[in-house]
Amino acid sequence: MRKISIFGATGSIGESAFDLISRQGGPLAYETVALTGGYNVARLAQMAVELRAKCVVTAFDACLPELRGALNSYGARAQSIKASAGAQALIEAADQPCDWALSAIIGAAGLAPGFHVLRHGGTLALANKESLVTAGPIFMAESAKYGATLLPVDSEHSAIFQTLVGEDIATVERIILTASGGALRDWPYERLKTATLADTQAHPNWSMGQRINVDSASMFNKAMEIIETKEFFKVKPAQIEVILHPESIIHSMVAYQDGAVMAHLGAPDMRHAIGYALHYPMREKLPVPRLDFVALSQLNFKAPDLTRYPALRLAHEVMHQSGTFGAAFNAAKDVALDGFIAGQLGFMDMAPLVEETLSTLMRSNSLKNAPLSLDDVVQSDHLAKTTARVLAQKFS
Ligand code: NDP
Repeated sequence: MRKISIFGATGSIGESAFDLISRQGGPLAYETVALTGGYNVARLAQMAVELRAKCVVTAFDACLPELRGALNSYGARAQSIKASAGAQALIEAADQPCDWALSAIIGAAGLAPGFHVLRHGGTLALANKESLVTAGPIFMAESAKYGATLLPVDSEHSAIFQTLVGEDIATVERIILTASGGALRDWPYERLKTATLADTQAHPNWSMGQRINVDSASMFNKAMEIIETKEFFKVKPAQIEVILHPESIIHSMVAYQDGAVMAHLGAPDMRHAIGYALHYPMREKLPVPRLDFVALSQLNFKAPDLTRYPALRLAHEVMHQSGTFGAAFNAAKDVALDGFIAGQLGFMDMAPLVEETLSTLMRSNSLKNAPLSLDDVVQSDHLAKTTARVLAQKFS
């Protein structure tokens, strides 16, 4: 039986993975080594019982009593499940060997567990794009060093990966990332500054978590994906193009030097990319909607407006600088996002705050170009968060 672990099991991606695994027999088909979550301990306990997990971890110490209580309510069914909490417990869970692990924690907190999973050389299905944005070169090097199989779960990167099977990356001219434009894509530019959290949550095509819905509307998510593309596929920034595609049917495209363009199409359902990574290199039946081209009738494309989406321009600046700039960018973006979610920052204040944080850190020579270590990444994350929090006061 394949041994699996899910980091971030209670999130949007984690739930989709749980759905796939449960439909395929759950504990009869997979041995679940570890499941992790954060605040949603009731759901985490329920998942652990259903999959008969060996260990369960909440990222937050304060949630451990509630997690234990939730497990106790299952009586004998939960007796053998070991519960623990905190950052160190997450690392210990990641150190438990398994054949397949899903990295679906949100934010930079996903980096360290993913790093540890790579070290036992199994397969890491990577949804946590922050791992590549903050620490791409060392993350990829660690994967190669330990002979791990790293598979992308972001739908765009899974699409590109699938389109590249059997091809030589040296023959690629361009990678074309598609973007839905998020919930506010049809709003006039002038109105964007009044957007609220609720406005950003009505994603036209995908069902996702709260934070990524905001990032999708601001295109910070696409900015992260541009950097993720550069790191994962080792292409030049100039080879990466973003195109608005409101239907989210083409998940991305690869243009080759002979003029051919290969596109990956499918219904917007994350279970495709997760399922592909779960069964790789096989293609198994997946419970995702099938495309009906006649009903679709047309697919549309538009160039993104960089005034409306300054995050795309910032992504190119980060790639140009490299080193710890990715970690600082991600950290500043998270502070901006926290501020917007808390109602302290306007929707259009997020990008200026990120830009000002990066400029401040550059002026004080606080960011390193290269080489990079995990400690450098952690330090830059802290520094950028502190700087962004101070600067954020100007905007509120
Ligand atoms: P969610 O916010 O829905 O879930 C995040 C998960 O991480 C939850 O299990 C949450 O626990 C846990 N978590 C939150 N904070 C911490 C922390 N500090 N330490 C450890 N665990 C924590 O996120 P998504 O599922 O939407 O996204 C997960 C990752 O996948 C992100 O990197 C995102 O960019 C990427 N991704 C997501 C897509 C999507 O469709 N949602 C598509 C492609 C990529 P709890 O909920 O119990 O508090």
